[in-house]
Amino acid sequence: MKSHARVVIVGGGVMGAGLLYHLALEGWSDIMLVEKGELTSGSTWHAAGQCPHFNGSLNMTKVHVYGTELYPKLESLTGQAVSWHGCGGLRLAMSDEEVNWFKYVHGISKLAGYEAHLISPNEIREHHPFLETFGVKLAYLTVSDGHVAPADITNAMATGARKLGAEVYRRTLVTDIKRLKTGEWQVITDKGTITCEHVVNSAGSYCGIVGSWTGHNVPIANMLHHYMITEPLPELIELKPELPVVRDPYSHAYLREETNGILVGPYETETAHVCWNGEPPPWDFESELIAPELDRLTPWLEKASERLPLFGKAGLKNVISGAITHTPDGTYLSGPAPGAPNYWMHCGASIGICQGGGAGKYLAQWMVHGQSEINMREFDPRRFGNWASEEYTAKVAVNDYHHMYYCMKPGEQHEVGRDLRRSAIHDRLKTQGGQFGQIFGWERARWYDRSGKGESYSFKRSNWWAPVREECLAVRERAGLMDLSTFSKFEVKGKDAYRFLDRICANRVPQRDGGIILGHLLTPDGYVESEMTITRLEADRFYVLSAAVAELHDLDQLRRRLNPAEKVTVDDVTDAYGVLVLAGPQSREVLEGLTSADLCNQSFPWLTAKEIEAAGVPGVRALRVNYVGELGWELHVPMGQLDIVYDALMEKDKSWGLKLFGTYAMNSLRMEKGYRGWGSELTNEVDMFEGSMERFIRLDKEDFIGRAASLGHKQRGPRIKLVYLEIEAKDSDALGNEPIYRGEKLVGLTTSGAFGHAVKKSLAFGYVEPQLARTGEVFEVLMQGDKRRARIIPEPAYDADNKKLRG
Ligand SMILES: Cc1cc2nc3c(=O)[nH]c(=O)nc-3n(C[C@H](O)[C@H](O)[C@H](O)COP(=O)(O)OP(=O)(O)OC[C@H]3O[C@@H](n4cnc5c(N)ncnc54)[C@H](O)[C@@H]3O)c2cc1C
Repeated sequence: MKSHARVVIVGGGVMGAGLLYHLALEGWSDIMLVEKGELTSGSTWHAAGQCPHFNGSLNMTKVHVYGTELYPKLESLTGQAVSWHGCGGLRLAMSDEEVNWFKYVHGISKLAGYEAHLISPNEIREHHPFLETFGVKLAYLTVSDGHVAPADITNAMATGARKLGAEVYRRTLVTDIKRLKTGEWQVITDKGTITCEHVVNSAGSYCGIVGSWTGHNVPIANMLHHYMITEPLPELIELKPELPVVRDPYSHAYLREETNGILVGPYETETAHVCWNGEPPPWDFESELIAPELDRLTPWLEKASERLPLFGKAGLKNVISGAITHTPDGTYLSGPAPGAPNYWMHCGASIGICQGGGAGKYLAQWMVHGQSEINMREFDPRRFGNWASEEYTAKVAVNDYHHMYYCMKPGEQHEVGRDLRRSAIHDRLKTQGGQFGQIFGWERARWYDRSGKGESYSFKRSNWWAPVREECLAVRERAGLMDLSTFSKFEVKGKDAYRFLDRICANRVPQRDGGIILGHLLTPDGYVESEMTITRLEADRFYVLSAAVAELHDLDQLRRRLNPAEKVTVDDVTDAYGVLVLAGPQSREVLEGLTSADLCNQSFPWLTAKEIEAAGVPGVRALRVNYVGELGWELHVPMGQLDIVYDALMEKDKSWGLKLFGTYAMNSLRMEKGYRGWGSELTNEVDMFEGSMERFIRLDKEDFIGRAASLGHKQRGPRIKLVYLEIEAKDSDALGNEPIYRGEKLVGLTTSGAFGHAVKKSLAFGYVEPQLARTGEVFEVLMQGDKRRARIIPEPAYDADNKKLRG
């Protein structure tokens, strides 16, 4: 066995083999995979092998599309036989919201480039003569879905990788991983030790224990999953073409043809549980099944027989029951682990056969080129912090499994695993009707419901719409108050703090104490990596804020960009401060009632910060900045005293009509101001010019990470361009990832949207072909199955001269 390698992948399932193959295709040599048993001997060998396209996320759809296009070609690419069955797929909708969802997903199909049709129950019979269509409102027909033998594609990708020089070590158990002082990793196996630059945890059901060796929390649960295959049925023996794979919310199961019988795999909507009592499997567990629990599955199997009576007609030939890795949000973990560089996660897949090819391709790009061609944020392991404990993971992953065929509407979240991170005024907001959503473990109010009914989740405007309008108008006309304690907050301190931030940030970092800027960290290739608000507290002390969900991502960005010679420390102070956003034309008067600090425009102008005393609380960091485009302050209060400042402000409510507002209102208000969102408008897929962020990039600065590439991008010109649209919407607003058409031609996609209540317009951001990015250009946006007229309007729709902000 070799003692050195560039990359060691731990685990030879479909995920590990998919990555090995694509690293080799990207041109990396000296890469190896280590597998304790035989390839596929974990979860992969016994998977049912279905490869669907249907998915509500554009990025995940790209992963699925890549795999389903790759697998039929693998034999010719690698010489290894692959049995691909391109039978197509039918997903059934039984409720109006599912129909709305399918229409949205149909839009995604146009962007991802696969063929799909919405068909009526009558048309279903043309594709599947044996299926009962009771309760079905619509089906989503995917022509190029299929299924494949999981061992075939895994072995083919491993063969392809070997042909390109990669090495596979079977029957080699990794027993420990250590980080060396040199920054390299040491992978200790029962056959020897390998020192490597990069290590990848692709250990399937064992990824938790493998992660624990290096102190990494890997939030996955091993769920027990079954499918069964009947004896051959005469009706199917001569049948051609093969029946499409059906995904049915009634039986919560997939149903397909297999060797002339029927294969059914239910995702129980209750009673599902983890395997091995939540422990990892024993090391010698290999190509084994887990004892099936058929009695428990009876309710779903009975429903499957109602949906497909052929299933009930034949005896069972085979029952497969095994472990499926499942994360709390059902999406695999692929990307850098937090902390020390070059430790990568590539595990947690619950649809790994379908996703293994695409997941491997995009992680390989990230490892080799520093970024992937798609936005990887939803796969990034750093979307989970330490709050995603074992207990949380077990609870939420089980719940997510129960919801595999459930239609989660926009805003809808699991109700288990909540209340992990709460601001000090959470209970007070709750008594005001706060409707909370979870973000990076935090509970954050989205809107305030005085009716006590809670949110009716929908793809359309729902019962939150009118109260959110009131919240928005209060901010625009009087003053609003929001708890935004969820901000990620960092302190960057030390002799070289200014030079460091200026070196990593595209904008010029404030040169005076109290100055605030919006700064972007770019990839070396000049694409957007992070967005941060940077406040200079003192010459060598900066307060840096970013999105809640970016806490670990941005901590890594800051720490990993430090040069060893720079005298700088970066501390995460997120939990130390609560944040109240006070915004609106009357916010100055409201705040004046709490503080003796001079708040007038001359002494406290826009984009400056001061430490003040408010409501008797010292050390309140007051930042004259906000994301809603009004006069106002963000008050960063030591968390333990947040309630004091909040109570004092709410007392003012009596005289000023201060209104609480949540993130739904914030989204509407920022859309009116044309403020871009990190993760939607600004991602690693675009440069600063494409995102129309020219005023935040200072190419005249001597240097910063991404500057040289940005100069090149400027010269090259944009490949796509951000536009600001008014849409003639009716009862729903853009969610993001809706196709934009010019006539019949697809010319772009939306990135986010909301109704602007002060300007009375349905607004959206989108990217279109650059030659079309001109004010007044007219398009059609495919929303909820209808093409809606949209027009590029001057940006922003509200307070174009920033008079309110500067007021
Ligand atoms: C019954 C069932 C049906 C399924 N049906 C489908 C389907 O239809 N479509 C679909 O897309 N997905 C399906 N899945 C899910 C799919 O099987 C998994 O998502 C996929 O196999 C995960 O692949 P992996 O590479 O992450 O894990 P694994 O296949 O488990 O591979 C991990 C490998 O790591 C090795 N390993 C672990 N620790 C070490 C160590 N310390 N040293 C060396 N080697 C180590 C293990 O031996 C194992 O081979 C199904 C799963 C089940 C259980």
